[in-house]
Amino acid sequence: MLAPFGARTVRGIVVNLSDSSPVQDTRDLIGLISPPVMVAPERIGLALWIADYYLSPLFDAIALMLPPGFGNKNPPKAKYLKYLTLNTATGRADCPGKAGAAKGIKQKEVLLLLEDSGGRLPLSRVLSRVKCGSSVIKTLLLKKLVGLEDEEVFRDPLARQDFALEFPLQFTQEQQQAWQPIETAIREVPANRRHGAFLLHGVTGSGKTEIYLAALAETIRQGKRGICLVPEIALTQQITERFFARFPGRVAVIHSRLSAGEQYDGWRRISRGEFDVVVGPRSAIFAPQPGLGLIIVDEEHEWAYKQADKMPRYHARDVAIHLAQLTGAVLLLGTATPDIGTYHGAMDNRLQLIELKERVSARGNSPLPEVTLVNMSEELKAGNRSIFSRLLHQQVTLSLEREEQVMLFINRRGLATFIECGNCGLVFSCRRCSGTLTYHAAVNRMVCHHCRRTYAAALKCPVCAGVDIKYLGIGTETVEAECRRLFKTARVLRFDSDAVAGAKAYVKQLGMFRKREVDIMIGTQLIAKGLDFPGVSLVGVISADTGLNLPDFRSAERTFQLLCQVAGRAGRACVPGRAVIQSFKPGYYAIKYAAKHDYPGFYKQEIKYRAAFGYPPFSSIIRLVVSNLSEEKCSRQASLMANVLKQQIAVQGLAGVRLIGPAPAHLARLRGRYQMQIIILGQHLQGLLKDINFPAGWIVDVDPVGML
Ligand code: ADP
Ligand code: ZN
Repeated sequence: MLAPFGARTVRGIVVNLSDSSPVQDTRDLIGLISPPVMVAPERIGLALWIADYYLSPLFDAIALMLPPGFGNKNPPKAKYLKYLTLNTATGRADCPGKAGAAKGIKQKEVLLLLEDSGGRLPLSRVLSRVKCGSSVIKTLLLKKLVGLEDEEVFRDPLARQDFALEFPLQFTQEQQQAWQPIETAIREVPANRRHGAFLLHGVTGSGKTEIYLAALAETIRQGKRGICLVPEIALTQQITERFFARFPGRVAVIHSRLSAGEQYDGWRRISRGEFDVVVGPRSAIFAPQPGLGLIIVDEEHEWAYKQADKMPRYHARDVAIHLAQLTGAVLLLGTATPDIGTYHGAMDNRLQLIELKERVSARGNSPLPEVTLVNMSEELKAGNRSIFSRLLHQQVTLSLEREEQVMLFINRRGLATFIECGNCGLVFSCRRCSGTLTYHAAVNRMVCHHCRRTYAAALKCPVCAGVDIKYLGIGTETVEAECRRLFKTARVLRFDSDAVAGAKAYVKQLGMFRKREVDIMIGTQLIAKGLDFPGVSLVGVISADTGLNLPDFRSAERTFQLLCQVAGRAGRACVPGRAVIQSFKPGYYAIKYAAKHDYPGFYKQEIKYRAAFGYPPFSSIIRLVVSNLSEEKCSRQASLMANVLKQQIAVQGLAGVRLIGPAPAHLARLRGRYQMQIIILGQHLQGLLKDINFPAGWIVDVDPVGML
């Protein structure tokens, strides 16, 4: 609605109607925005919940439900094309005798062209074909020989793509069993359902996507529609291609890389019910899909579902759970490595657990890869100082001999991740951040991974002038250089965010690997996710330990997930797969259970640890971070806030709420700003914070995915 606000007119949204007003003098609304924007009641309900739960301003929450660009200075507009139409009663070119007939040659040419083209053409086409000016058209319009019409054209990112049609596969016995309760839930009315929310826990390649497709097809048969969330745009390709092939012309893809016009048009077409399925990353949960009957969250454990960088800091999986409750839609969370909280929900019967334990593929069952753990301390003892254990070296050689592909995984970029002066021990760090610098050979510079600032490679220590600069710590570039040295004839490709900038490079390099133009691919977690390469027989994890020392209660869970995902890349097709995981702590439970593909084993141990320390899912966490250019101001603000919190806890008589901090954040300084954090643990913490005023510089993050 347009509303008067002082002397100005502002745009607003009607959330609720009421008979009385808290203020005395009210003014009338001016009218509807043109074109009007409608938000379905359950979406308003969703926005209210988001504002409440994630402690964000209501407008920020509602803005998620509005057409893309609604808040912009120049919001996107629908695009129209002008069509010229022949007035058949009067405009026949061969009736020169009639009243108002065309006189000039050009006028006749226009009428002839229209007649030959079925009486209707875009104006621009007519002008260019007849090579006439607009005065000719004006004359024809005046004589009422032709008419002019506006027709909306949609900017469609998929308009020129073709997809081969595919048909559903015959389910395996295990899939059939998994499918039964889901099918039942989709067919039942929400009120009669025993279970409408499912956790589909299936190892990589167990046929989860096939079940998503069947669930969508059944939802469509029931006259309803679906939304399918995928964690990252980069990963949408493989899954969307399968969706297009199964539901041609009925799938909309939305994501932030589309142009403003494409996003706007997509939103409106979706809201008109033009698509059975909407696919996209986290923001797709807010697509105005009418008649919602099914919400799928693929790879539900992925942290990319959390909006971490701006308000509202929502988690799309949790929003999906809530939206499913509001709309009665069936909810399907799929993953090979469930989030600990999600699995706990299944153990508590809030979600129905469905398991797929076997891999399927078009060529029959292909077993999970055999995983071998290598203790790198033993390698050192045996005099092997290489980053390759003897086993991994031997296995890579074998795979290359058999002309099979290899993936090597290291979760750090660069050639040296730690640079120090051999004389005085100075560690080179960023001037603006508290992090250490990484040497990147490709650009021959030291780079800060936090702010991306780069420095000339150090030859001399700035403190003691010593020249013994040690470049230590291994990254993707180190592994690349070693591969080129050890496996001289192999074609090596490094796949990390340095080497692969932008979506085009991403698709191109993956294409090269798929076409087997590459023998060894080296990558960060970018290659760990969701990708399916039939030629890969060996996966090597250079170091499983990189994430273990981080001060975050989720570091074990994170390590377990990554290792499972990485190992799952091997042997996705005809060749049997093998994974070699190198570690200095092979007995550590996250590593041990990942090597055995034993999720329940890992969960049992992890949940004990969470319970013992009162960490989620046994409590909720809100993370408060304040930053300031001045270290002193930063820490003063943090302690003031801690005092306010303590008072509130006392006033409200909250039992079992714990504060950790204030303490410097893991990165004590970022881009020149100091950062302090306070962690709050407890139940229903929103009530504690609702009335606290957070000045500028504070970040309030409910259910943070990381503590760093
Ligand atoms: P996930 O999503 O669990 O990784 P997918 O659904 O992608 O598993 O299935 C893995 C592979 O097995 C795909 O190539 C898929 O086409 C194939 N597949 C899945 N189900 C069947 C089936 N019932 N019969 C034959 N092939 C199948
Ligand atoms: Zn920096």
